[in-house]
Amino acid sequence: MVDNPLPAASHCARVGADRASAQRLADFLTETLDAQETVVAAFESADGQWTVAIYFAAPPNETAIRALVALGAGADAANALTFERVESRDWVAASLAGLAPVAAGRFLVHGRHDRARRRSNQIGIEIEAALAFGTGHHGTTRGCLLALDFIAKQKQRPRKILDLGTGTGVLAIAAAKALRVPVVVASDIDRLSVRVARDNARANSAAPLVEFIHAAGLSAHRFRRRGPYDLVFANILLGPLTQLARPMARLLAPGATVVLSGLLNSQAQAALLAYRAQGLVPQRRIVLDGWTTLILRRPGLPR
Ligand code: SAH
Repeated sequence: MVDNPLPAASHCARVGADRASAQRLADFLTETLDAQETVVAAFESADGQWTVAIYFAAPPNETAIRALVALGAGADAANALTFERVESRDWVAASLAGLAPVAAGRFLVHGRHDRARRRSNQIGIEIEAALAFGTGHHGTTRGCLLALDFIAKQKQRPRKILDLGTGTGVLAIAAAKALRVPVVVASDIDRLSVRVARDNARANSAAPLVEFIHAAGLSAHRFRRRGPYDLVFANILLGPLTQLARPMARLLAPGATVVLSGLLNSQAQAALLAYRAQGLVPQRRIVLDGWTTLILRRPGLPR
């Protein structure tokens, strides 16, 4: 658990790019740089241009960062990279202030500064943390929100919901708000994510509808006690998703829906095989920015 407030960012590096390259570079940098020392954000500014910004807690080694950007986005991007000092601003707030709201189906994921931009027919999800994954800007999160939009339109509405790997809590909050069911169970292996997600649930007046669990995988007893689930979201990665297929299948109610994401398009088939082996059948596939979200169903009549 991180009890201290985050350090202010001392420096920032920025480079402009088209949307796809910006997201690719941001993903690459997020995976490569130390999350304790940096925050990476890709955002669209009002004029439609995309920028990747890296916030550093300490003065960065500019040559090393340029080399990294060259690796992730080529020499032109590395040369165009600019460095500047950031004066005593909260770096998380600084990285989020530039984030445009993201619409997916009936949902609008936005920061506090964009609260007023929600239309009356949209369900707003206010997310104020950039240190946990899930601001709606990633193709996997948007894919899951579109899947939820589709599921919420079905006649048979899920009552027990699990969000495995909740990050900022975005999917659990969206499900709680769209379906108004107590209780959505939301878990994460990362304690900071659980704390961030809990704060976000509170900010969205969804705290009474979400129960948070800090746990790796699904073996904690509380998962079984709260189940069986009618709807499970798991936006993680192919490796853990494959390992989780069997324990997840044991927690599903008949007729349950499973939404899997975090899969590159080329990995979707492997995930499908692992879940088919547990008796699930594919229902839909959503492809966004090179990422696949799968909607699968466990046969049987819903309760
Ligand atoms: N659900 C959010 C966040 C997805 S990022 C969204 O859709 O935007 C994936 C999250 O899964 C991360 O927060 C990570 O900490 C968590 N995670 C990764 N492996 C996990 C595991 N084995 N058990 C639980 N959580 C895990």
